[in-house]
Parts: sequence; C-alpha cells; structure tokens
Amino acid sequence: YKNAPPSVREVWLASAVFAERTYLVYEDERLTYAQSHAQVTAVAAWLHDQGVRPGDRVAIAMRNYPEWMLIYWASACIGAAAVGMNAWWTSEEMAYGLRDAAPTVLFADAERIERWRAASDVPPMTVVAVRTPASDGTVPWETVIAHPGAMPEVAVDPDSDACIFYTSGTTGFPKGAQLTHRGCVANLMNMLYAGASSALAVERATGVAPPADPPIPVTLITTPLFHVTANNCGAYACTALGGAMVLMYKWDAGEALRLIEREGVTNMSGVPTMAREVINHPSFATTDTSSLTGLAGGGAQVPPDLVQKIEDGVTTARPGTGYGMTETCGIITSISGDFFVDKPDSAGPYMPNFEVKCVDDDGNTLPQGEAGELWVKGSSVIRGYINRPEATAASITDGWLHTGDVARIDEEGFIFIVDRKKDIIIRGGENVSCTEVEALLYRMPEIAECCVFGVPDQRLGEEIAAAIVLKTGASLSEDAVRDHVAAHVAKHKVPRYVRFFAEPLPRNASGKFLRRDLRDAYAAETTEA
Ligand code: ATP
Ligand code: MG
Repeated sequence: YKNAPPSVREVWLASAVFAERTYLVYEDERLTYAQSHAQVTAVAAWLHDQGVRPGDRVAIAMRNYPEWMLIYWASACIGAAAVGMNAWWTSEEMAYGLRDAAPTVLFADAERIERWRAASDVPPMTVVAVRTPASDGTVPWETVIAHPGAMPEVAVDPDSDACIFYTSGTTGFPKGAQLTHRGCVANLMNMLYAGASSALAVERATGVAPPADPPIPVTLITTPLFHVTANNCGAYACTALGGAMVLMYKWDAGEALRLIEREGVTNMSGVPTMAREVINHPSFATTDTSSLTGLAGGGAQVPPDLVQKIEDGVTTARPGTGYGMTETCGIITSISGDFFVDKPDSAGPYMPNFEVKCVDDDGNTLPQGEAGELWVKGSSVIRGYINRPEATAASITDGWLHTGDVARIDEEGFIFIVDRKKDIIIRGGENVSCTEVEALLYRMPEIAECCVFGVPDQRLGEEIAAAIVLKTGASLSEDAVRDHVAAHVAKHKVPRYVRFFAEPLPRNASGKFLRRDLRDAYAAETTEA
C-alpha cells in the first residue's frame, strides 16, 4: 500500500471532488459532499481554535446522526483522535470512558448530554450539544458549524491515532483500541481490494465482465458508527468512492427494506442476522431490491444455510462476508460470490497486508491445516490500548495480534473460524465481556459463584446467560439479578437467562469455569424442551 493516502485527512480531502453528489442521508435530511465539506471544515477550524492539537482527543457520544461522520472527519483532519463512545453506555460507563480517554471536547446528543450531566467524577471538557438546545455552559452545534475559517494546515503523523474505539476485551472493563491513520487507510485499501476482487471473481465464474463504470455505492449503515463495521468498513469505502451513506437510527428490517427501495441501496453493512431478517420479512417479496449487489455482513459467522438463501433469494445480490476485529481496524479476510457459495463456512482468504498463522497454547506455529489460535500481523493492527500497556503487551507480540479466535487455514489460504478462545459474547454485533458481567454479579452479596456465557439466539446470534450459585441461606430472584446489572451497565450486557444452581459450577484443573460445558448443557436442554 505504498501509494495509499498517508492519512485519513487525505481520504477526506480527496472526497471534495464528489461535490454535488449526495453523501449523507438521514430520514428526510440530505447533505451533499460540498455541504459536508463546508461543515467538516468549520468543525475542524473551530476545534483548532479551541486549542485542539495533534495527539488530543475529541469524543463523540451520539446515535447514527450525520454529525457523527462530520465530527469524525474533522478530528482526523487536524490529527486529533475521534473517540467513538458507545451510545448504549450508562452514565457510569460514560464517566469511565471520559476519564480514560480524557478528550478536550465532547460532542453529545440529548440523551448522552443527560448521562454526562448525571455522571460523577468526570474531568472538565468543552461539551457541544448536538440536536438538542445548549444549556448550562454547553456550546450549540450551530455555533460550531458557523465558525469561519479554512481547513487548518496540520501535518498528520500516519502512525498517530485516527480514532479510539472501545472493545469489550476478555478482561473486565472496555479497552480503548487505538486505530492509527495508517491502519484505517490500509483497511480502506482492503475494502476496495475486496470489492474489486469479488467483481473479478464474478467475471471468472460467469464470463461477464464487471461494468466499466460501476454503480456509485449507496451503503445502508445499519450498525453503530462507533464500531469498525459501520465506520471503517461501511463509511470509508463509501466516502472514497463518492457514494451515499444512508444512516439508520436503529436496526429494523422493514425500515431497511423501505430504504433499500427508496434510496436504491447497493450494499448493506451489518451483522449476518440482519440479512436473514430482510429476506424473511413479509414485505421482502413486494419490495424492489434490484439495486442490491451484495448482502450478508460480518462480525460473526454467517450461517452456511444463509449463504445459499441469499444466493437463491435475492436475484441481484451475491452473498459476502468479512472476518475482522476492532483491533485490525476492520477486515482481516473477505469472501463473496462463487467463492463463498463454494465454501460457505469459510471467512475467506486474508487481505494482502496481512501475515497469518495458527499457533498452539505456547505460541508455537502449527503445521498448515491444523486449527489453533489465529495470530495476524499487518499495517492495520492497532497500536495498542490507550493507558493499558499490560493489555497491549498481552495481545500483541512482535506485531502479531492474538485474535482470540481459533482458526484453520486450508491449502488455498482460506481461513475458517472454528471457535472462540476469548471470553466474549457477541450479541447482535455488540461484544460483551463475560468477566465484566461476572464482576458486577459478584458485587451482589448473595452470590457465591457465577459464570456468564453465550447461548445461541436466532435473532441476535448469541444471548447472555448467567449460571449462579447462591451463598447458603441466601435467596435472590432472576429479576433482582437483571435489575442489578441494568443499574450499572448498558442493557445489552444484562443476562437474558438467569439460572440458579445448587451445586458448585464445573471447573477445569486450573480452577477456571468450563463455560463451554455450561453452554452446551444449556443448549441441549433448551432444544429438548
Ligand atoms: P464491529 O467492531 O463493528 O462489531 P467486528 O465484529 O468485526 O466489528 P469486533 O466487535 O471487534 O469486530 O469483534 C471481533 C470478533 O468478532 C472476532 O474476533 C471474532 O470472534 C468475531 N467475528 C468477526 N467476524 C467474524 C466472522 N466473519 N466469522 C466469525 N467470527 C467473526
Ligand atoms: Mg462486533
């Protein structure tokens, strides 16, 4: 990627050529590239005049509004890291994130302004009120976008942070992954490469050459912009190609179908279960989906039956997926079209900027074809986790990122994700740390031991289950457990299933809970019922 733009700043500045094309669509609002550029420049100039400099941080705590992207590009253009704060976070979690990232400025929408106000122990910062009237010292968004001045001339270091996204790692609290400019640009190159190679794959299989003038992408953004799927994979590729981003406030299959027809959506970024919901929706048959060229999504294994359903069910769209992580600024692999139909259980070949290997528990490289933890190395691996040198050292060895996923690589270089080694649950695209929820449960004096694990769910991929052993004589209801968790952390971390056990929970020789056994026992029970 020697000829790639050096930083995210150049990616944004280059998109000015798309001038009058539509860029951001949200409900009935539309912004062209020209209008978006004017606003990004104003935000960047305002931030710069506030004293924001390269290396500083600018936090965004908002739902998927057009302003989200404008603030993101503005920060990147002046070398400040945009901190994507999880919009589901409670006041308590938000306070943690703000202390951890220590932004100079926070942009927040109505609900997040309330949570910021309710939060305790938050360092001082300038707060901009977006889509809500400013009060009590917050700055109106209208003031920011009316700020005069040109785009500040700033030299952006490619190895500095373009953005910080919080991930639920295996250890308790969310960690702020530092995605560099180089990494984000490399992922953009991977996305373009993946798009081009799937077009070539179609040509090879059908003999029909891809159109010389490919359609301008219209990308439906179905997941939150504070995650790599919507942002680094959806937004970047769309912006670089002069496409339109159609933003959804929240996922809804019927609404997605309405937007696909209204806007002529060509591709949908999201998690695989969304593709199933779209195909199964009652209005699918009567909706014009002929603009779609691809369907599926990443972030979790695509069930192999879904690959065939997409192939058969949507005449124009071909199935596709990517495997990736926040820690790789997006995709590690990509697969689509005939390759995917032939190997529906594969995540695809790895992208050209990566080296990959499967290792045993001691980090020794396994012979080709054997399954083990997947380690990857390449320019899109994160720099580390902010303020967490130990966590960084534990996850990255000599540039090799330990993915925590168990994979097998076949003789053609296709990667198959066969298991997950890390203790996370992926619920509807949000990752939940088992240990974070367990640590919260242990704050309840009645609980002697507990183990949190994921169970399969048709709609969300996985749901959260908690196995609990109470102290002798103690009593607790399922709802009391849920209410306790909900009082501290975001709703998606609350166990849907709570089960009390009289016996100690199963452990291995080294004393760790056998999560897999609990999950398998649970699955066996629920399928019998
Ligand atoms: P996003 O941050 O937008 O949710 P993401 O899901 O790709 O994107 P993470 O949330 O960081 O990234 O989660 C990464 C983990 O998700 C991987 O380590 C893996 O366990 C799982 N995962 C992602 N893509 C796939 C896939 N195609 N097949 C199987 N597992 C996947
Ligand atoms: Mg995810």
